[in-house]
Amino acid sequence: MFQNIGGKIKVLAQVVCWIGISISIIAGIALISEGGFIFGLVMAAAGSLASWVGSFLTYGLGQLIENTDILVALSKKAALRAQAADDTQQDGPDETTSCPHCGKPIIVPAGTLFAYCPWCNKSIDP
Ligand SMILES: [Zn+2]
Repeated sequence: MFQNIGGKIKVLAQVVCWIGISISIIAGIALISEGGFIFGLVMAAAGSLASWVGSFLTYGLGQLIENTDILVALSKKAALRAQAADDTQQDGPDETTSCPHCGKPIIVPAGTLFAYCPWCNKSIDP
């Protein structure tokens, strides 16, 4: 009943706008048929314009709620993705260090207790 309230507010704004335009045009035609041509024309035009402009705020509110819902959904998704990435990398990323014997750069895979230097072939305790 109150799902997608932003979309419903936007539809409401459109419906109210079109009702206002219809009433303005009908009232204008009624005035024209009674002889007030200029007044009827102004009534139809100004009434339609007022109805259209008057719907901006309601429509804008609906758009704002829709955009906020999208942003919340996206940030939830991003938070879940970050959480999942955290869970798979609990050992941390591979560690880049330098060999204590020869000083050359080496990459020690995460969770490794000891490794051998590929340059000097001596054991390293990360
Ligand atoms: Zn080395």
